[in-house]
Amino acid sequence: MNKFLVLVIEDDAPVRNLITTTLKTHDYRYLTAENGENAILQVTSHNPDVILLDLGLPDMDGVEVIKKIRSWSNTPIIVISARSEDTDKIDALDAGADDYLTKPFSVEELLARLRVTQRHFAIMKQEKDNDAIFENGDLKIDYAAGCAWLAGAELHLTPIEYKLLCLLSKNMGKVLTHTYITQQIWGSSWENDVASLRVFMATLRKKLESGPAGKQYIQTHIGIGYRMLRVE
Ligand code: CA
Repeated sequence: MNKFLVLVIEDDAPVRNLITTTLKTHDYRYLTAENGENAILQVTSHNPDVILLDLGLPDMDGVEVIKKIRSWSNTPIIVISARSEDTDKIDALDAGADDYLTKPFSVEELLARLRVTQRHFAIMKQEKDNDAIFENGDLKIDYAAGCAWLAGAELHLTPIEYKLLCLLSKNMGKVLTHTYITQQIWGSSWENDVASLRVFMATLRKKLESGPAGKQYIQTHIGIGYRMLRVE
């Protein structure tokens, strides 16, 4: 039995059934809620490990549900939304959601998102004991010393590139929006900051992918933001 308990918040019965059938087949435990009010009640009484949240709920805006949950809980939230709700998706990530799935999605996609979240969760727990050194594939960061290495060779990063790398690594597996990143780096999120971000991210990626293995560490989510991938 998978120890993870998933709360499925979805008012659309066919979609809800697709999700719960998938979870059941893959030995996840699950709970369901059809509206925001019931969802919040379920979170407080059952403390799930992962929350799958449809943004279009009948009684409450999904972003409001995230804000309410985030006021007391860090439980990973994966947002499920229709493609037409792209700005809502960004608001949801900024409100504290961890990841998103766009409708219509495949069962494989859903399972992959759940695995990313579970890994992220396990890594976060691990890092509580050892949070000064970060390791992912060939990448190593010493936060205290302010240095980063790739396959043993020191990476020569500009201060902004280094800040970006730290921000992404501390949120590994999580999609960070342009707004969130520019706020963290520059304290603002003007259009110019987003344009600068694209440039710094391109140079950072180039340096990270220059290693002997040429692995991809940063994934671009067009129109949304960036995520650091777990590299084996
Ligand atoms: Ca809905």
